[in-house]
Amino acid sequence: MKNKFTLYPQKNLTGPENFPIVKLGKDDPLVELKQVTKIYPGGTTALKNINVRFYSGEFVGVMGKSGAGKTTLVNVMSGIDHLTSGEVDLNGIAIGGLNENQMAMWRGLNLGIVYQTNRLMPNLTLLDNIMLPMDLCGLYDPQASRNKAMDLLKAVELEEHANKLPSAISGGQQQRVAIARALANDPAIIMADEPTGRLDSATSQVIYTIFEKLAGEGKLIIMVSHDLNITGRLTRVIDLQDGEITRDSQGV
Ligand code: ADP
Repeated sequence: MKNKFTLYPQKNLTGPENFPIVKLGKDDPLVELKQVTKIYPGGTTALKNINVRFYSGEFVGVMGKSGAGKTTLVNVMSGIDHLTSGEVDLNGIAIGGLNENQMAMWRGLNLGIVYQTNRLMPNLTLLDNIMLPMDLCGLYDPQASRNKAMDLLKAVELEEHANKLPSAISGGQQQRVAIARALANDPAIIMADEPTGRLDSATSQVIYTIFEKLAGEGKLIIMVSHDLNITGRLTRVIDLQDGEITRDSQGV
């Protein structure tokens, strides 16, 4: 599927503007890991020489037992944690070469992250929670970001709750808000670390349906999951074991 997302820098970008200019071809990966190894300071090797590419339109499930390295994989792919060796390219940029500010901006523009716990700001309304990443990246004026946040709430069918606090809605609804927030800057890539880990199976299906739709629109969804019932809805399954990919349903 074609990459149809805006690539940065854009001239109205208010943050660090000196990103290298990248022109991704339609068949280029949105996320690429090259010989990625992660050894924690205590000596645990959590990822061993991982080579993998992920593309627009994929709904990837990263499966594996506890301790297999799934969370570490998401954290190094999203630049939240540093690699021991190797390279991660995110939307065409080798993120290891960015400084902390550039990394934060690059992540904010290209990547939406959803966690098992929704990490919504408890004292902000749902609408304000979704506007927050837009405000941080400075892509839209306040009215435009308000309108966009409302559109995103509509997309997850929660617009009537826009002015409520997170505590006033259910866990499944909160997770839908977290997805809307992850979509705030229209990122090409969504990473989710056990987003349904605390949800019942019916509510989990609602979340999967949203991800399926987003992948159908060309986003890349990479989701860590323990839920074996999901595999039929994924376009690709990666099995991790002891820090290594033991199966990739689509090949590398
Ligand atoms: P999973 O998400 O599949 O459960 P993790 O990525 O959390 O696996 O962990 C992979 C391995 O790295 C495990 O052996 C875990 O104990 C270890 N590990 C994870 N985080 C840290 C850390 N911050 N410091 C040291 N070891 C860690």
